[in-house]
Formats: sequence, C-alpha cells, structure tokens
Amino acid sequence: MKKRKNFIMKIEDNIETFNSLLKRQGFIWGPSPEIYGGLAGFYSYGPAGMALKNNILFLFRKELRALGFGEVECPTVMPEIVWEASGHLERFIDPVIKCKKCESIFRADKFLKEKLPNTMIDGLSFEEMEYLIKSNSIKCPECDLEFENIEDYNLMLKTKVGSGNTAYLRPETATTTYLLFNRLDQVLRRQYPLKVFQFGKAFRNEISPRQGVLRMRSFDQFELQFFISKEQEFNFEEFDSVKHTKLPLLDWKLQNKNIEIPNQIDLENAINEKILKKPAYAYCLYLSYYLVSKLGFPEEVLRYRQHSPNERAHYADDAWDLEIYTQQFGWVEICGIHDRTDYDLKRHGKFSNQNFEVRMNIDSNEKEVPQILEIAYGIDRIIYTLLETNFNVEKDRINLKLSDNVAPNQVAIFPLVKNKEKIRLLAKKIHNDLLQELIYSYYDESGSIGKRYRRQDELGTPYCITIDYDSLEDNTVTIRERDSMKQIRINISEILLIIKNGIQKKKE
Ligand SMILES: [Zn+2]
Repeated sequence: MKKRKNFIMKIEDNIETFNSLLKRQGFIWGPSPEIYGGLAGFYSYGPAGMALKNNILFLFRKELRALGFGEVECPTVMPEIVWEASGHLERFIDPVIKCKKCESIFRADKFLKEKLPNTMIDGLSFEEMEYLIKSNSIKCPECDLEFENIEDYNLMLKTKVGSGNTAYLRPETATTTYLLFNRLDQVLRRQYPLKVFQFGKAFRNEISPRQGVLRMRSFDQFELQFFISKEQEFNFEEFDSVKHTKLPLLDWKLQNKNIEIPNQIDLENAINEKILKKPAYAYCLYLSYYLVSKLGFPEEVLRYRQHSPNERAHYADDAWDLEIYTQQFGWVEICGIHDRTDYDLKRHGKFSNQNFEVRMNIDSNEKEVPQILEIAYGIDRIIYTLLETNFNVEKDRINLKLSDNVAPNQVAIFPLVKNKEKIRLLAKKIHNDLLQELIYSYYDESGSIGKRYRRQDELGTPYCITIDYDSLEDNTVTIRERDSMKQIRINISEILLIIKNGIQKKKE
C-alpha cells in the first residue's frame, strides 16, 4: 500500500473542488435523474466512474479466481417468503420518530445523536431511545411538538410481481447466494469450505439519505461467502500463511475508551488475546484487507472497527467493518466481515423444507449445516473513498493519484497538432496498438497540450504520450508521468514496456 503523510491536511479546503471534479470529469452524477431535480439516494456513474468500477471488479475477480472462488448471479427481486426466512422482514428495520402534526419523519438514532452528542446512542433499544426522547423533551424541529413512540420502518423496497404476489427488491446479495446452497454444494464438489461470491445491485429504502453517494438506495455489493464446518473455523489451513499479518483492529472495548486509531496487531496475537475468536474469521479479515490493498488506499486511512454486541445485525455472531477515513464523511465503512454462523442455512432449510445438513469432513460420517463467513464490500463506497483519498491539489493543478491498475485511462495519446494528417495517423496507430495489447488508452486531439494534460491529471491517468513532427522522422515520442510530471523521449517500441513497468525502469 502507498504510504503518504499529511493526508488529513491536504484535502480540507478543497472539498468543493473535489465534489465538482466528480461531476466535471464524469465519475459520479446525481442525485438522478438530475434533469427532473433528482431523487435522494440514487446516483449514476459517468464513463470515468464506470471505467474505475470495472477495473476494481476485474482486479477482485482475478484475485478470487486464484483463490478458488466461484461467481454466481441471482435475481434482484425475491418473493416475500425469502425475506421472512432470512429475518429481514422482521428485523431489517430502522427506528423512526414521526411528528403527529406535520408528519416529518426522522431516524431516531441519527436524530438523537445530533441532539445529544455526548450520549452513546449506538446499540440502544427502542425503549431506551424513547426514554431519552421523553427525559430530554426532544421535539419536532418543524413545529415544536413532542415526539412520542418510536416506530419500525422496514428498509426493504416492496413491489408486486405479476398479478399481485408480494416481493421485495433484495437488501443484500448474500441471501440470494445462500438460496443456491444445494446447487453449489454439488457443482463445487463438496470441497469445504465452499467459496462463492456475487456482485450486483441491492436496494435499501433509507428514510432520508443525506450522506450523498455513501447512502444510496440502489447500490452495488460485492459479497464473498465461505460455507464452512465448525471444525474448519477453528482449524483453518490457510490461516497459517497469513497469521503474522498486522491489521489495525479496534475492538468495541477500545471504542468505549474513545480510541479512534488502534495499533497494528498480528492476527495470531489477536486470536491469542481473544480479540478474534476463530482463525477462519481472522483469515476473512486478512482477505478483506488483501483485496483492498490492491487498489491503492493510503495505509494510514484504514482501520477495522468491531461492532458492539448491540450494534450487530440480527444474523451476526461477530462483525467488523473495514473503514476508510474521509474528509467529507469521517470514517466510512467500505466492507463488513460477518460471522453469520449457521443462522441463514438453518432458517432457509426450515422455511423451504429442505435438508441442508451435509457431510463436510471426508473422515467422518457426521452431517451438519454449514456455518457462513461473509466479506461484504460496498463497491460505490470503495469508489468514493478511493477517489477522495487519492485527490491532491498541487499548486496550480489537480492530481488524482490513482494506481495504474484502477485508473480509468492507463495512458492518453495526444497528437501535437490535429490538422497534420501524418501525425494524427501515427497517434491513432499507437492508440489502437495499445488497445490491442489490452491497455486502456484514451485518444484526445482537442485543445492545447497543457489543457489535455490537466484533463488527464484530473482523471488520474498515469501516462500521457505526445506525438509530434520529430516522431515522423525518428519514431520517438514524448512520454509524461503524472506524479513527477517528468517528460522523457522514448522510442515507440518502448511504450508498452514503460506503461507496464513504470517510467523508472527506463531511467535506470
Ligand atoms: Zn412537526
């Protein structure tokens, strides 16, 4: 991972510049539909945002294939019984307070946090929050009337299928993956742990999403599942090779002491000190970090935060969030790692009258319902935090320091003058040859060279290549590196090598 100091200083005054960059360069647009005023919680990706997203997905898929994961894709709409079984119908709810007079509606916990900043709200029960509302006579900000009871508000988007069967848009991909369990057991040839992931849309009907792109009502998840035996959770082969990885683990007891940035701790020590219970779960923390480390986050913006027992989702025995520190929103969860136990398969087994007990150990005849360990990434949040933490303002230019492997364009090709046909043709040939080599090349012939450089700096393009009159004579071009702004003259035949290996190789 890249090391960078003073990341907190640099962006502070530039949030507006950053937000306008997201729109101007076509990363993220919204709320959508913009021309009709926008609906809160819905956003669109422009070409640069989609290219970045696809690069992240490509990297994740490549790594996971190497680790033996299979990918599935399920429908985004599922009948009511699925969500009854999963527990989402009953328990995927936010506490809300409604004003009897003006019908304003607020999320009770968020509202209380604002009104009572010195009180710990996370994990309080409905009754405890109601008590706080009454004892502090908290009132509707619109009409000064006192709030009464807290109500349940289910976050799932409800719909009708066909002639009126109630269904819901999925609030997570995970549950839809679990419904395939007996199929997966067969095609993955009962080699436990079964490793599966799913990428796709999920929907949450947030009451009043205010954190921009961080609280989308329609968003992309990338969720990994391990179906694993109880015995394997404690005796997990792959843990041995990663047990000395150090991660910044902030358990919930440390949070109660108001510690924000924890020390790095060895995963084996974390097990020994009972911060983590199971080696297989510790491996999931490692894996969640390993994939993210490929994307180029500065290391000091990252931490793992454990949920307090009250904060955990209804299915979780242990839960940690991988968080990134941002200027605009503070610590942002980009990934949740959940020990879901055998909760999901037991429930779906019961509701569907299927037997999900399987023989998981070849040396034993005993059957059991698999445990599930989950690594759930929010792709949109990865995109936002990656952009914000790599955003730099340097004197008179914006430099988006994205890694070569995720930048929307890996290289941009500029003919120095566009009305000189031979220069254009050579530039287009170089561009097309790079595309043939699966390099994401971008061709741009409009505006001054200075403007073209600035545009690519804002898109995070690591290299720009200029083709000029000399190129026609001696087959050389000028290549410019984004971060150092160094320009060197190279032979056209060297372009591919430099893009793949970095400009340093050439300098040596
Ligand atoms: Zn009111």
